[in-house]
Amino acid sequence: MGVRFLEVIGVGETGVRARTVVVLGGGAAGMIATWQAASLGHAVTMLEANGRLGVKLRISGGGKCNVTHEGSAKELLVVFAKEQARFLRPAFHAFGSGEIRDLLQREGVETYVRENGRVFPKDSPGSAGEVVAAMQRVLERAGVQVRTGARVAGLVGVAPRLEALTLEDGSWVRGDVFILAAGGASYPETGTRGEVLEALRNLGVVVNPWFPALAPIPLVAPRPEWEGVALRDGSLQLHAGAGGKRLATFAGDVVFTRSGISGPAALELSQEVERARRGGLAWLSYALSSLNEELLDAQLQQLQQGNPHLAVRTWLQRLLPERLCAFAHAELALPPDQRMKDLPRAARRSLVAWVRAFPLGEPRAVPLSKGEVAAGGVRLDGIDPRTMAVKGWENLRVCGELLDIDGPIGGYNLQAAFSTGFLAGQVGPSSAFS
Ligand SMILES: Cc1cc2nc3c(=O)[nH]c(=O)nc-3n(C[C@H](O)[C@H](O)[C@H](O)COP(=O)(O)OP(=O)(O)OC[C@H]3O[C@@H](n4cnc5c(N)ncnc54)[C@H](O)[C@@H]3O)c2cc1C
Repeated sequence: MGVRFLEVIGVGETGVRARTVVVLGGGAAGMIATWQAASLGHAVTMLEANGRLGVKLRISGGGKCNVTHEGSAKELLVVFAKEQARFLRPAFHAFGSGEIRDLLQREGVETYVRENGRVFPKDSPGSAGEVVAAMQRVLERAGVQVRTGARVAGLVGVAPRLEALTLEDGSWVRGDVFILAAGGASYPETGTRGEVLEALRNLGVVVNPWFPALAPIPLVAPRPEWEGVALRDGSLQLHAGAGGKRLATFAGDVVFTRSGISGPAALELSQEVERARRGGLAWLSYALSSLNEELLDAQLQQLQQGNPHLAVRTWLQRLLPERLCAFAHAELALPPDQRMKDLPRAARRSLVAWVRAFPLGEPRAVPLSKGEVAAGGVRLDGIDPRTMAVKGWENLRVCGELLDIDGPIGGYNLQAAFSTGFLAGQVGPSSAFS
């Protein structure tokens, strides 16, 4: 157990206003909450199950850490579901994209904005590690007590007061105020096993169960021979069964994996895919062209007249990776040397339909553990969005992914963790409500 005791400032034993604050979780949200509570003069102890802080942060963005997204609070909020955006508004206004970039810059970590608006530390091999190191320096200066290797096993208390946290070794940690920042339930190897949500539920706090999101989608009939092959510039489509009503679409690339599909469009659609799958039939296809069927058919007819000797395969190669063209011919029962001029009308219509809905088939259960984020968490209507205080409790706050918040890829989830952590850390003096 790596336990490090640092000098505690502003201890409230002399009867002044500082309080003993216990923060559960040393990730993005917990570190910011700890820093804020300490800078307000409270005596803060942070408990982290791992041997070091920020383990998920260190692997974020493929080790480069897409730390936030450029834009005003309003611009960032529009990507979240309506209820989440409404909840996050005060937090994003209090501590937004500019504030986290400023904090990092003060610690010597310069950030830059990519063309797609995603913000990263200036390129270096371990830039995610630099973000964590910067935050650790901030915590050290704030004089907090950090206990690593300390997994919380239980929450002790009865509404309206939480009394203590119990650790796996049987010891208790008491405090005046508790800030829970235990993260989600994906990538359990990073420390996030999701059990704190269950403990909160047992205390009567309203929660929504964990649900997979931003995860690769396994398929009933995967194509391991196509592993690494990408479908580009089109959109992934979710249908209610083969040939069924279209339920959702996401524009972006898809990459075949050994067990199914991944890539931006697959990750972004995974939550809806899993909901549809649990609700009955779900079926996936990929629109290789953004043109609708009529326009695509008109394009082919023009080619039949203007370029009659063009091979269908050559046309397909503009839409499909070479490795899949032979598959397309076989599926459509077209000879490998099929020319445009000899393509019968019915075959042309089938080709158009196939290009508009390249069949990917039925999904299997989307794994919670493989998501970049976990949907579900503490229900937002049970939390005060200005303080992150749990309604009905005097001294309990929740922040970060433990809340029922899940944004898209692009730096939004870390920003939500930083922003909610910031508000959770604004613990008032001992005379004030939590
Ligand atoms: C592979 C991957 C890549 C990602 N990339 C990005 C990205 O580039 N940009 C982005 O915006 N988002 C990214 N995300 C999502 C983002 O990392 C999370 O949303 C964010 O880290 C959530 O912050 P948090 O502080 O709430 O939780 P975490 O950062 O997960 O921190 C929670 C901490 O609590 C600790 N903990 C949990 N339970 C206990 C317990 N019982 N006792 C003690 N400690 C406990 C955990 O060990 C953990 O350290 C990525 C996620 C993954 C998995």
